[in-house]
Amino acid sequence: MQLCDSHCHLETNRYVNDRAEVIARARHAGVRMLITCGSDLATSKQQLELASQYPGVYAAVGIHGHEANSAISASNDEGIACDEEVFASLAELTKHKSVVALGELGLDYHYEFSPRQVQQVVLKRQLELAGLLNLPVILHNRESDSDLMEMVDAFPVRGVLHCFLGGPELLDWALNRGFYIGIAGPITYPRMENLHKLVKRIPLDKLLVETDSPYLAPQQVRGRRNEPANVAYVANQVAQILGMDIEQVAELTCTNARVCFGVKDAA
Ligand SMILES: [Zn+2]
Repeated sequence: MQLCDSHCHLETNRYVNDRAEVIARARHAGVRMLITCGSDLATSKQQLELASQYPGVYAAVGIHGHEANSAISASNDEGIACDEEVFASLAELTKHKSVVALGELGLDYHYEFSPRQVQQVVLKRQLELAGLLNLPVILHNRESDSDLMEMVDAFPVRGVLHCFLGGPELLDWALNRGFYIGIAGPITYPRMENLHKLVKRIPLDKLLVETDSPYLAPQQVRGRRNEPANVAYVANQVAQILGMDIEQVAELTCTNARVCFGVKDAA
């Protein structure tokens, strides 16, 4: 069985003592392809290093909404100015062939670690960049549905809406836009019937599975540090919902990830 964890954060300091073992366990569990996602410029560089070091690991580089403050040079009455050096550096990183997407990027109005307007400016700059670089985007969204839809609709971008936990309106929008939908560990939690119903509406060629490791451990290992090997729990739950074998879900989500991210040679 081959699996793809389409969204994880392998640079996390929670793997500082056993990162090689975490990746080896994933490969042993059949995870042949992992997309490790940056949150700011520094972690984006780290993802690229990991992708260069480990077969089957691919990098996404980008500025998360949480970290949007790290990508601006000024925020005052005259407006918010992007720190163009950050975006030039991101663009430079994408020249490496193991970089397969811009991400993760988007809006998070739940925590507002960066002010909403700053998040929007930094998202917009990256949506422009994705078009220029012809790369898919990995979108993060939390409690920001309408702003995200409106902003993304202004750009002809493609990619994935990761860790989907939204409602039917957001799902329909994403599917109409041709986005892939990433399903993560919360699908295994109790009382997720509404999400189960929505999973059934995702066309099989738009479905991805992910862990968002080290966050969002599936129910079977909930409360612990998550790791990419656990994507099997997600795939298994999706298989149950769809009345399929886990092998089928594993195969089709791997194929989808290769198409979405333009990867031909997952090791
Ligand atoms: Zn993430």
